[in-house]
Amino acid sequence: MSKLVYSFDEGKTQSKEILGGKGYNLAEMKSLGLPVPDGFTITTTACMNYLNEGEVVTPSLKEEIENAVKDFEERAKKAFNSEDSLLLVSVRSGAKFSMPGMMDTILNLGLNDKNVETLAEKTGDRRFAYDCYRRLLQMFGEVVYKIPMVAFNSYFDRYKEKHNYELDTDIPAEGLEHIVNYFKELYLSEAGKPFPQEPEVQLIESVEAVFKSWNNDRARVYRELNDIPHDIGTGVTVQEMVFGNSGEHSGTGVAFTRNPATGENKLYGEYLINAQGEDVVAGIRTPKEISTLKEKAKDLYDEFVDITKKLEAHYKDMQDIEFTIEDGKLFILQTRNGKRTAKAAVEIATDLVEEGLIKKEEAIMMIEPKSLDQLLHPSFNEKSLESAELITKAGLPASPGAASGKIVFSAEEAKHSAENGEKVILVRPETSPEDIEGMIAAEAIVTTHGGMTSHAAVVARGMGKCCVTGASDLKIDGETRTVTYPGGEIKEGQVISVDGATGKLYLGEVETTANEQSEAFTRLMNWAEEISDMAVRMNAETNDEITAGFDFGAVGIGLVRTEHMFFGEERLVQMRKFIIAETKEERVEALNKILAYQKEDFEKIFRQADDRPVIVRLLDPPLHEFLPQTEKETKEVAETLDITPEFLNRRIRELSEVNPMLGHRGCRLSITYPELTTMQTEAMIEALIKVKDDGIESNLEIMVPLISTFEEFKTLKDVIETRAKELIEASGQTVNYSIGTMIEIPRACFIADKIAKECDFFSFGTNDLTQLTFGFSRDDVGKFIGEYEEKGILENDPFQTIDEAVGELVKMTVEKARSVDPDYKLGVCGELGGDPRSIEFFNEIGMSYVSCSPFRVPGAILASAQSKVKQDV
Ligand code: ADP
Ligand code: MG
Ligand code: MG
Repeated sequence: MSKLVYSFDEGKTQSKEILGGKGYNLAEMKSLGLPVPDGFTITTTACMNYLNEGEVVTPSLKEEIENAVKDFEERAKKAFNSEDSLLLVSVRSGAKFSMPGMMDTILNLGLNDKNVETLAEKTGDRRFAYDCYRRLLQMFGEVVYKIPMVAFNSYFDRYKEKHNYELDTDIPAEGLEHIVNYFKELYLSEAGKPFPQEPEVQLIESVEAVFKSWNNDRARVYRELNDIPHDIGTGVTVQEMVFGNSGEHSGTGVAFTRNPATGENKLYGEYLINAQGEDVVAGIRTPKEISTLKEKAKDLYDEFVDITKKLEAHYKDMQDIEFTIEDGKLFILQTRNGKRTAKAAVEIATDLVEEGLIKKEEAIMMIEPKSLDQLLHPSFNEKSLESAELITKAGLPASPGAASGKIVFSAEEAKHSAENGEKVILVRPETSPEDIEGMIAAEAIVTTHGGMTSHAAVVARGMGKCCVTGASDLKIDGETRTVTYPGGEIKEGQVISVDGATGKLYLGEVETTANEQSEAFTRLMNWAEEISDMAVRMNAETNDEITAGFDFGAVGIGLVRTEHMFFGEERLVQMRKFIIAETKEERVEALNKILAYQKEDFEKIFRQADDRPVIVRLLDPPLHEFLPQTEKETKEVAETLDITPEFLNRRIRELSEVNPMLGHRGCRLSITYPELTTMQTEAMIEALIKVKDDGIESNLEIMVPLISTFEEFKTLKDVIETRAKELIEASGQTVNYSIGTMIEIPRACFIADKIAKECDFFSFGTNDLTQLTFGFSRDDVGKFIGEYEEKGILENDPFQTIDEAVGELVKMTVEKARSVDPDYKLGVCGELGGDPRSIEFFNEIGMSYVSCSPFRVPGAILASAQSKVKQDV
């Protein structure tokens, strides 16, 4: 039988998997000699056993817990129910991955009707004793007996109001005693059973409740959102209480060793005097800044700063630390690597390298590639802000970003409206873990209470979502669905703009602009580029996109989709003429018009790309995408094309396909209409010659899409080469170009070696390759893929993260190509080219580069560097 309970002193031999992060770090801090109240931790294994085996505490686990309590009592020289030295404990949860606010904590356990009197007598503070007891009744009631917290809170608030007490701390001992009595009655009326008086019973029931909380809805949602497995369980830590609510020389707080929003290397935190536990996080009273502790108690402050430095040096990362001061003595109750914004993550990682605490490779590993695009996303345009009407500047900049949307007052409404495609801002007094789905759905979150470490702030930062907290001059009226602010009022559904970087709110929608890259970001990206050995290109065709992509570090263009260049108004007319034409002459006439546009476009792209490689793909999509859909449109189009609607309708019918995705598209179009390829070749080669005249050595790679057979490729290659040769010879210039193909049909994979002998490069079109490997239509997969993931039939959406079988096909193709030429040029240009997990796979099998949309380029470079670091260890 494996051991299921470890004291903090034994715990340092165990792992985070076994003890959970909280228990593990408490054991570690204790072994570092820090002031940590003693205790023990019940393992995650015990939790999973409990959940898997019918939710009963086995006699052997019970015995282990009882023995752990006995040992603990001996070490502490305190005991449950002791009149001389009373032991009170907290029961805390903690999984391997931190899940803030996801599971519940019970404080002051061990109190009962008799022990509360002992506590009052020993401390000489009746008020304090009854404050502890009422808190225990609340927490135990909610967590263990599922009595709604509002039942407790509304009575508590009514009591305060009735007696004109402003703060919780204003309520005298008799008041709290009265409240305690009422709370005990609530147990009978709400739960149908009394509050258990025996500390041992309280403990076992609490442990069970923590075990069960592993499966509560909000914990599940959080795990889904953060890719945390459901089967690892939580540890339960039982720890001696220290009291932050025992008077004016006591308090409790939370601090980050660096600023979690900006990354600034400055202690950042908040505390409340005479308060306990979650008071700071709950946002009920607005806490004080940590720096003010220096004035109140310099020694304590210095001691705390010392400890924060020690912890940072030990964990080599920014720490999020919970502490409590009891009668002037400092205790550390928790430390973990702090959650941070993408911006802060980059600042902190680069600073830690600079400070010599970590290596570049470790810094690279500290950043989540997906989070980088947060950094590149827009903030409010300065000019537009000047003219925008300010609602309030009382709020705190809890999580950066800029968002506009209609205000809603509840998580359900946020979710509902977002499902209907609306952008909403969730406005709440404060948030709690039940709001999580609404927070995900909202563009931004605003609260009127709470500080920078409140639930809303912590969760929003983790999600990379814009958030403003503590906007205290707003009054929310949930009944009339109105927010009043000093200058007026806003009704539900009205649009506001939220600036997470400044904490300000504005009326209406404010324009946004792209974000500048910080010095730290550039430094980090340089390291990533240095380390990684797989290149990153971009998929882009417009001027702005290309500028952004090169700015973000792309080394070339991996995909220019020529069809995207056909959608201009005038071009579309010609394209439609081409499609409905019935003779070659008509087609060539239309194409000649398009030629001029295409040439101009290519010229621009080549100039921007300079000598960096550019892949241009020949026209790819099914033709009907260019044709009118509705009757009204058809009429209009017929008019502009100077034909009858009847004729147009006939052509549309003739062109229509049962399954366009598997129809007349890609290279198949060019096989039937070689003049299309000839035109595109002319546009590309003429543009090449033109920019060459200006001294630009372009590096053009022409790509034939959607081939299944060798002959398809060979036929089109000949068409391209014939026309290109004529043009180049006539110009007297020398220009560089190569001809490759897209690999996106399984048939082509199997004959990759044969194709490679005639073909200069391959680029994997993973969207079509996935579609055709599964036989899932890309356009219809949305109808069932969610279900597939939920039921565990597929672990991931294979269009987002590479599937194993598609991966096998790609790998086989790579091997076949490299058997022809060990340096054969291979890239990926589908959606998967920007997905970190897929990038790791592509790097492992020796892909030359991946290509993705410009905003995903930095994340792709980072992911590529990370996979190199992983390979090297
Ligand atoms: P969470 O996972 O939600 O952070 P914790 O287990 O850290 O929950 O508990 C929340 C708060 O309860 C802590 O920040 C601390 O202030 C308080 N707390 C927990 N255990 C103790 C203890 N032994 N003594 C005093 N306060 C405690
Ligand atoms: Mg909690
Ligand atoms: Mg905590």
